Amino acid sequence: MEENRYRVIIIGSGPAGLTAAIYTSRANLNPLLIEGNQPGGQLTITTGVDNYPGFSEGIQGPQLMAEMKKQARRFGTNFLSGEAEEVDFSNRPFTIKVNDKNYKADSIIIASGASARFLGLESEKRLIGFGVSTCATCDGYFYKDKEVAVVGGGDSAVEESLFLTKFASKVYIIHRRNQLRATKIMQDKAFKNEKIEILWDSIVTEILGEKETGVTGVKLKNVKTGEISEKRFDGVFLAIGHIPNTEIFKNKLELDEKGYIKTSHRTQTSIKGVFAAGDVVDKVYRQAVTAAGTGCISALDAERFLESEKI
Ligand code: NAP
Repeated sequence: MEENRYRVIIIGSGPAGLTAAIYTSRANLNPLLIEGNQPGGQLTITTGVDNYPGFSEGIQGPQLMAEMKKQARRFGTNFLSGEAEEVDFSNRPFTIKVNDKNYKADSIIIASGASARFLGLESEKRLIGFGVSTCATCDGYFYKDKEVAVVGGGDSAVEESLFLTKFASKVYIIHRRNQLRATKIMQDKAFKNEKIEILWDSIVTEILGEKETGVTGVKLKNVKTGEISEKRFDGVFLAIGHIPNTEIFKNKLELDEKGYIKTSHRTQTSIKGVFAAGDVVDKVYRQAVTAAGTGCISALDAERFLESEKI
């Protein structure tokens, strides 16, 4: 086969991409996996994973991903570090540009995942890395004996808050409604933790501070009373969900109204031979095990497609 030409190219190295790599390499399809800007995906910025089957005592996220990568490598997956910059799905073989070089494949599996959502404030952009963070497990350590805020009301917000209580003296959850979205078991943990206080019906309208000082607090608006207040914090963690990493697929594949890739016939996208799996498709379940599951399905779908096309 000509240089940079593959039967399958996988975009993304989270549980979906690596599972697709394990299956396609084990089927002797000699896949190329493009790792993206966060090799290992979102699990590399979490700590303990307690609900991935097979690890009765739990496993650290980065370790789980390192094991998956080792397993994919064992069967001969080729890894390419870099990001998919551009795709051309108009003809087969399909083309993907990475680091200014073109790579061609008869089938593609997209497992590019999702990234943290931001509030959309100018101040949050200015202060990201200076007291604004989207990853408590990465940055929590810096807030020993400090007071921090976590924005959001889902499982992530609660999980990050619980983690932060190991370091911070006080953790405020700022939530826009008067009821958490998090699962009952997580809610109970938050309510029981004396270091956690919830600021209900509140939205952050501005994050205060400068790069020199770091975050000094936030401006809050109570959505029920309209009251504006200021509260001092040393750090602000955003945990308000995710957006799919589909920028380069706009106008190339059918996406839904939120930007997730649409699939039909299992993992088939709107283009025959292009498959999608994991969080880039799934806005409902978003679990490591469901991503791995759809990654497996996408590999089997790609294998069947190549067979049916006699490639
Ligand atoms: P999520 O469930 O979508 O929750 C996002 C939260 O952020 C919601 O409470 C939402 O408020 C709030 N929010 C969204 N946009 C906002 C904005 N612009 N301003 C203020 N607040 C905003 O996301 P997630 O917590 O990241 O969880 C995603 C999935 O992963 C879920 O299925 C969850 O169960 C799973 N997960 C599981 C675990 C675990 O099992 N340990 C841990 C983490 C995540 P509203 O409630 O008002 O919509």
